[in-house]
Amino acid sequence: PQRVFSGIQPTGNLHLGNYLGALKKFARLQDAGWDCVYCVVDLHAITMPYDTKALANQTRQIAAAMMASGVDPEKSVLFVQSSVRAHTELTWVFDSVARMGWLEKMIQFKEKSGKDAERASVGLFNYPVLQAADILAYKATHVPVGEDQKQHLELSRNIADRFNRDFDAPDFFPLPEALIEGPGARIMSLKDGTKKMSKSDPAENSRINLIDDADTIARKIKKSKTDTLGDMPSDVEGLEGRPEVANLVGIYGALANMSDEQVLAEYGGKGFGTFKPALAELAVDHLSPITARMRELMDNPGEIDAALRKGAEKANAIAEPIMDEVRQIVGFWQP
Ligand code: ATP
Ligand code: MG
Repeated sequence: PQRVFSGIQPTGNLHLGNYLGALKKFARLQDAGWDCVYCVVDLHAITMPYDTKALANQTRQIAAAMMASGVDPEKSVLFVQSSVRAHTELTWVFDSVARMGWLEKMIQFKEKSGKDAERASVGLFNYPVLQAADILAYKATHVPVGEDQKQHLELSRNIADRFNRDFDAPDFFPLPEALIEGPGARIMSLKDGTKKMSKSDPAENSRINLIDDADTIARKIKKSKTDTLGDMPSDVEGLEGRPEVANLVGIYGALANMSDEQVLAEYGGKGFGTFKPALAELAVDHLSPITARMRELMDNPGEIDAALRKGAEKANAIAEPIMDEVRQIVGFWQP
């Protein structure tokens, strides 16, 4: 059986990268008839400094964004990570399977811990093991994520494989596959074409938030970094060495379902004074219906909470029988 799992952290405002890299695919897979499990991963969010008073509402907001972009809690399992115990329990089992050396290679930890890794939380280091547990607690086979999660997915596969061998349980856990294909898998910061767009980037102008209004989107795109090499290039070769311009072209293409070639066939040789407003309009057209629906949902948190409560029950019903088998396989005493 094939099952999709993916999660989003309640760490701040969702942005265009989250939408194109993840959210947009969630509804598509659901509507194509996949068995989908989508999670607001609040356990991941506490691995970095955060505001305890804001967390629950940010959690609702991510759920609202998933629903607003087409995830139907009747068709998919939509729930909050901390409301299902299997995630933490399986993490501990996997902590005893994963090797220090594997985790020490993780780029996200290096990026997020910065220069002072000694002061980072153990949770931040352990983050990818929790991610493996998220996926495998449901024996998910496919994981729609952005390009930045590729290395973590590879680790999940290694953990699943190592578990199956160490405990002589062949094929017990599937080796989950990342679904990264398509444009929009790696949207870059509007201020630095070499850094990915992130919720946790302190620079507000580096990203387009799902909740930004039309004027804000237009202003951020207008102010986005380009370079001093002149107008839009006339072909894709001309994007080389111009990461910021390539990013804007990529965003346009991802939104309009066009290749870079097609975008440049239309805008090549034109000035940014023409291209940027067109891009802003396109982004607003795409995001405004989602934003409007998100606001509606946020005005009625009771509806979100009810959906999440039901989702937790459904998630538990899948994960618990799997965890029972895990407990047996690793040899725990059972009453
Ligand atoms: P944070 O900075 O707190 O890690 P984030 O923006 O990276 O936040 P996550 O919650 O970590 O968001 O990731 C949610 C999903 O969005 C993941 O599937 C991730 O791969 C995807 N994603 C995040 N940033 C981008 C991006 N710039 N382009 C495409 N996909 C992205
Ligand atoms: Mg992230």
